[in-house]
Amino acid sequence: MKAARIVKVNEPLEVEQLETSRPKGSQVLVKVQSSGVCHSDIHLWEGGYQGLEGQFLKTTDRGVRYPVTPGHEIAGVIDTLGEQAEGFSKNEKVLVFPWIGEGLCRIGEENLCDKPRSLGIYNDGGYAEYVLVPSYKYLIKLGDDIDTDTSAPRSCSALTAYGAVKNSSLGPNDNVVIVGAGGL
Ligand SMILES: [Zn+2]
Repeated sequence: MKAARIVKVNEPLEVEQLETSRPKGSQVLVKVQSSGVCHSDIHLWEGGYQGLEGQFLKTTDRGVRYPVTPGHEIAGVIDTLGEQAEGFSKNEKVLVFPWIGEGLCRIGEENLCDKPRSLGIYNDGGYAEYVLVPSYKYLIKLGDDIDTDTSAPRSCSALTAYGAVKNSSLGPNDNVVIVGAGGL
C-alpha cells in the first residue's frame, strides 16, 4: 500500500510503498476513504510545539517515533477482520476512534492512557490506503447515507468541541461566549 509519511521533521512527506498489514486477533484493516488534516498534524510534522512557557516540547520526548504516517481523522470501509473481531462485515462504512491506549482502561478514558497508541501520532494513521486498527471496539458504524468526508473530522474536531462543552459543566439557560470557534 502507499502511505504519505513524515520521514524527517520539517521536510516534505514521502509517499512510501509499505506492506499492507494482515489483521490478527481483534484487529481490523480499514480501507481509508477519507482522512482529515488537523492542526496537530503540523505539530507532528514540525517535531513538536510551543509549551505554555515558550519552551519547545518535542514529540520524540513524548514517545513519537519517525517515520510515521500521520492522519487521526479516519473514515473508510472494513477490508479485513482479524479472527476475533466481531460485529462488522466487509465493506461496512466506519469511523475510526484514534485516541487509544493500552486497551485496558477500567474507567473508559483510554485517551488519557500513560501508554498512548493514538493512530496517526504514535501508530501509523490515515494518510495511507489502509490503516490497521488494533481492535474492532475502536470502530463506529456509519450509515450508508453518511459520507466519509464529513464524518472523518468527528473523531478529532467534533470530539474537541464536545469535550469543551462537557467539561464546562454548563446547565440549561447558562450564557456562554465561544472564542476562536475556527474549524471546530
Ligand atoms: Zn486532530
